[in-house]
Amino acid sequence: MTTALAGRAAELDAADPLAAHARRFVRGGDVVSYLDGNSLGRPLADLPERFAGFVERDWGERLIRSWDEQWMERPFGLGDRIGALVGAAPGQAFVGDSTTVLLYKLARAAVDARLAADPERREIVIDDDSFPTDRFVVEGVAAERGLTIRWIEADPASGVSLEQVREAVGERTALVLLSHVAYRSGFLADMAGITEAAHEAGALMLWDLCHSVGVIPTELDACGVDLAVGCTYKYLNGGPGSPAFGYVAEHLQGELEQPIQGWMGAADVFLMERHYRAAPDLRRFLSGTPPVLATVALEAMLELVEQVGIAAIREKSVALTDFAEAALAEHVLPHEVGGQRPRLASPPAGPHRGSHLTLTHPSFRAVTERLWQRGVIPDFRAPDGIRIGLSPLSTTFAEVEGGIAALGEELRRAG
Ligand SMILES: *Cc1c(COP(=O)(O)O)cnc(C)c1O
Repeated sequence: MTTALAGRAAELDAADPLAAHARRFVRGGDVVSYLDGNSLGRPLADLPERFAGFVERDWGERLIRSWDEQWMERPFGLGDRIGALVGAAPGQAFVGDSTTVLLYKLARAAVDARLAADPERREIVIDDDSFPTDRFVVEGVAAERGLTIRWIEADPASGVSLEQVREAVGERTALVLLSHVAYRSGFLADMAGITEAAHEAGALMLWDLCHSVGVIPTELDACGVDLAVGCTYKYLNGGPGSPAFGYVAEHLQGELEQPIQGWMGAADVFLMERHYRAAPDLRRFLSGTPPVLATVALEAMLELVEQVGIAAIREKSVALTDFAEAALAEHVLPHEVGGQRPRLASPPAGPHRGSHLTLTHPSFRAVTERLWQRGVIPDFRAPDGIRIGLSPLSTTFAEVEGGIAALGEELRRAG
């Protein structure tokens, strides 16, 4: 049976200028509807050849010569390309380590710099609904440095507002760390306003771009952002464990000192000096050998993202998200199960909505399990949230409609 909504999905796919790109990804096995590209992007279908070429040529033939020929510069070459997607001029972004480790390195560097300038700057501002790693890293840095944490209480169905940040910051704030797009609700924060508020208080601003890079047009330089970190395995499809990227505004690079001093961040990597001297530029934020192998898939996706352009990607992201909301309204939200209707816990359409939606219901842990068994793959976020991620280059409208219809069926079955 073709419902009106399924017909609408077919029309939207037919009219979608990016539709053909979905076939460039591996679409194998039992997967009917993949709704978690915001957690792990699908692989591009040409990766087997790319990996083979890497193994045979770059690694197998060139061997150690590849370090000189390309690998030493790879963290910065890829960094510049990711930088271009987030409004950073060259020389300010690099790839390496995990998001967790880069958050630690940059947060520690930032609070140390502010403490050195003013010993009374002893507070880090973060919200209580931010991703666990962000909160845990901040707790660790605060413990190491004897700082206190000022928690902003975030509304889990929206996110941190400019007013809340204005109230939280002051002359004791060293650093503000927030997510550009909230991992739970999909709330898209006011980067320009919040960065300005942090600066007016004399604090540094660190943005987590995990859920926005590759899908939301972002202007780090224009917003005067100090520091940023983001994932490459979500909307940049770098594959499980592909490294994170970091951004350090050029004017801060000589001042900030990160805590994991290794040979790759030294002023002269191959001088093998007796004592550490930090490189004068962005290289000082590296620690050890860059994870070159883990950047092969990322590079492939960057080529596609650059070809399509971030504005067109955002446009499809908005269309998919709006369509998903309509599908939820039809297939899922009206059904009362166990005396309760599911609730949308994401912002309404508009400038504060990223590229995923969360809805909540007590039965969703069990519902997610059954959906996975039938090849419909959203993700579950405790205690009761199903997240619908819309990855524009690999997701079709039909896939969204089919997946959400299945969600409605499984929800009713749970009753
Ligand atoms: C996915 C995600 C992370 C992941 O950190 P890893 O070190 O790559 O595991 C961190 N922060 C946010 C906000 C995320 O969404």
